[in-house]
Amino acid sequence: MTEEKKVSDSQTDGTMTENEDIQNLEPQAQKKEPVRQIPVHKLDIKRLIELDACTRCGECLSWCPVHDQDAREELIPRRKIMDFLKIARSQNGFLAGIMKSEKIGESLKKVIKTICGYQEVTQEQVNEFVYNLYECSTCGQCEVVCPAHIDTVNLWEELRRLIVRADYGPLEPQKALRKSIKTFDNPWQQPRAGRTKWSRRAKKDGLIVQEPREIKKTKGKVLLFFGCTASYDTNVKQVAINTINILETLNIDYGVLGKDEKCCGSVLLRMGDPEYKRLFKENIDQFNSLGIDTLISSCSGCFKTIMQDYPKIKPLNFEVLHTVEYLARLLKNGELTFPYPVNQTVTYHDPCHLGRATGGFDAPRMIMEAIPELTLVEMPRNREYSRCCGAGGGLKAGFPDIQGRMSQERIKEAEKTGAHALVSCCPFCYQGLQLGIAGLGSNIVMKDLSAYISQALLGYDVFEKAAKEAEEKKREKEKAKALKEKEKEAEKKKAQEKEQNPASAEDAT
Ligand code: SF4
Ligand code: SF4
Repeated sequence: MTEEKKVSDSQTDGTMTENEDIQNLEPQAQKKEPVRQIPVHKLDIKRLIELDACTRCGECLSWCPVHDQDAREELIPRRKIMDFLKIARSQNGFLAGIMKSEKIGESLKKVIKTICGYQEVTQEQVNEFVYNLYECSTCGQCEVVCPAHIDTVNLWEELRRLIVRADYGPLEPQKALRKSIKTFDNPWQQPRAGRTKWSRRAKKDGLIVQEPREIKKTKGKVLLFFGCTASYDTNVKQVAINTINILETLNIDYGVLGKDEKCCGSVLLRMGDPEYKRLFKENIDQFNSLGIDTLISSCSGCFKTIMQDYPKIKPLNFEVLHTVEYLARLLKNGELTFPYPVNQTVTYHDPCHLGRATGGFDAPRMIMEAIPELTLVEMPRNREYSRCCGAGGGLKAGFPDIQGRMSQERIKEAEKTGAHALVSCCPFCYQGLQLGIAGLGSNIVMKDLSAYISQALLGYDVFEKAAKEAEEKKREKEKAKALKEKEKEAEKKKAQEKEQNPASAEDAT
């Protein structure tokens, strides 16, 4: 190996080259191992047709938010499709059969290779394809702009399933999510019993009047599914708290599963892990046994998964809505009005899973329009062209730097509107966009729409009110303490005077 080659293989500044990076993230990347087969025959016929439908037009290149942050041609849909087809042809089909046959001599194989242009893929090429396949937030923007109407999100997810079957994926940093969900039924490595901790704390802090109603006791008709992010992440607890306050104020016949709630399985499905099926089945059986009419969720990822992906496994005996869609319906029926104004100018980020994936563009806007004095200023990229924050599809776990830059890009767009707050309808987006705000040191405030809905119903922000009350309590406590100390001091002084001059002290009494 030449000196020059050695330097390019391993950079001298200690940072990893792209190839080293790829190999470190790969689970089984060993040069000498035979190239493991990807079970292409398991691919749905619809996906095979879609792979063939790509015209290589390249429209997806100019829209992919990941490509904006990592301008490698290899990760755009066009190239991923081409690379996968190359692998599939090399491992399967007529020519591959001939080339792998031990009955055919090497000289004939050489001729076939030259004449038919047969190309065998190496382990490195497969590993690189896997890496590129996971460098994607499954945001669905490519699907919107693709003139061949390729259902890219389902295609990526199905290809990832094949990759996992062949033990190429998920990527090393994503494995912690998988392990945590398998062990704890949540991706945050938190015990199951900790799922309801937030509500006990919220009641103690005066953020909710009472703990959420338990559906198994109340037999309510509306199940509120919190999801793992709102349940476990203390920074996102406002979503769960505000949703409870909204439902209680409207006296909805709702209930929650409490400690019996489990991860919806979205992240596993998006990463191609078959474990999602266990969660889907267990959740469907539990939901179907409740006798509910509607399941609502304030998490766009949980909502999309339960609404669109669960019925592919087993039918649901209830309707599934995002909380904002449920509330928008009440608004249309005249069962919801907002008595209090919220004097704010905001801009709105459409979560990929509520917007592009399920078409839920109007409900949040309808609600914002109905809140007195709330002004919405749209970003240029909105609705089906909303720029992904990068939090989904396992991207944040696998490629945190890319996700950070993607969310900063969205924050810059939000800042340009001059809005005071950036509003969304998803704890995952909330979390992802907060990282962008922190990274940029931006002054824009991140809000979940539930915060403004709750404020417009109650006339105050529960967090501000609780903080003011806590501050007031603290001041009173300090005042009482100071008074007590003053009294003590006076008594001490009196006792000293008595000691020094007992006669005059007696006269004084
Ligand atoms: S789904 Fe989104 S991130 Fe993935 S390739 Fe398409 S546009 Fe890029
Ligand atoms: S936009 Fe669609 S058809 Fe065009 S290159 Fe991308 S995936 Fe292929």
